Amino acid sequence: MPELPEVEALTAYLSERLTGRVIAAVLPVAISALKTHDPPVTDLVGRTVGPVVRHGKFLDIEAGGLHLVIHLARAGWLRWQPGLPAAPPRPGPRNPLALRVRLEGPDGDGFDLTEAGSRKGLAVYLVRDPAEVPGVARLGPDPLGPGFGPERFRALLSGERRRIKGVLRDQSVLAGVGNAYSDEVLHAARMSPYKLAADLSEEETDRLYEALGTTLREAVERSRGLAAGELKAEKKVGMRVHGRTGQPCPVCGDTVREVSFADSSLQYCPTCQTGGRPLADRRLSRLLK
Ligand SMILES: [Zn+2]
Repeated sequence: MPELPEVEALTAYLSERLTGRVIAAVLPVAISALKTHDPPVTDLVGRTVGPVVRHGKFLDIEAGGLHLVIHLARAGWLRWQPGLPAAPPRPGPRNPLALRVRLEGPDGDGFDLTEAGSRKGLAVYLVRDPAEVPGVARLGPDPLGPGFGPERFRALLSGERRRIKGVLRDQSVLAGVGNAYSDEVLHAARMSPYKLAADLSEEETDRLYEALGTTLREAVERSRGLAAGELKAEKKVGMRVHGRTGQPCPVCGDTVREVSFADSSLQYCPTCQTGGRPLADRRLSRLLK
C-alpha cells in the first residue's frame, strides 16, 4: 500500500501534469470504487484542475471548487496514460480499471485508477470539501507537517495503552504512516513493536520522534521525481526490515523476523529491536503445539 512518501511523490508528479489542465472526461468503470454520488463525477468535466495535495495517504485533486479525493488502499494504483482512446473502456470482472480521467488537448492524456485482485479497497470521493470524506476528517497530524514537534508527538503518546506499532499506524493518531513505514521507523529507533506507547521514557519518545522524521523524509527524498509507475519498486528497495523476513538486517546482520496476524504481518530485527529475543507469534506457537 502506498504510504506518506509514495503519496507525497504521486502528489508532486500529478501536480506537474494536472494543474491548469481542463478535464475532458471522467469515466467510472468499477462503481464499487466510487463512494459518493452527489455531485456526480461527470460534474468535473470542463473544470480546470487547481492544486493537487495530500492528506495522510489520501490524494486530493481540486478542480473548479470540487475535490476528487482518492485512497489507493492495498492494491490500488494510479497510472499516467499519454494517449487515452476516446471510446469508453469496457467494464468486466478481469478489468482492473476503476476510473479514467482524460484531459482536454490533442494528446488525449490523463490517468487511470486501477485495482488488482479481488479485495476491493480503492476509494474515490467527489466532494465540495475534503473534510466530507470520513477518513480525511479523522486524520491526526501529519508527521512531516509544519509545527509537528517533539512536544506534539509526546502528547499523542501519553496515556496511550496500545502497543507502539499499532499506535504509529493508526491514522487518527498520525496521518500517513502504515504497516511498512511503522516497521521501518521502529527499526530505526531500535525499539520493539510490542512496547506500550505509554511506557516509553522521554529519551525513547525523542528517539522515536527523530526516527519518524528521518525515515519519512529519506523516503520522500528517494521517491521525489520518480514516475508514478516507479514508486512501488522504489518503496520496496528502500526497506530495511519490512517485507524482508529471513534476510540479513543491513545494520547488524541478524536475520529479520516476522510476526503474522490475521490480515497483516510485521517484520523486525531481534538484535536491533528486542534485545536478541524473538517476539511471541501466537500463530506460530499454535502451529508448534
Ligand atoms: Zn539489526
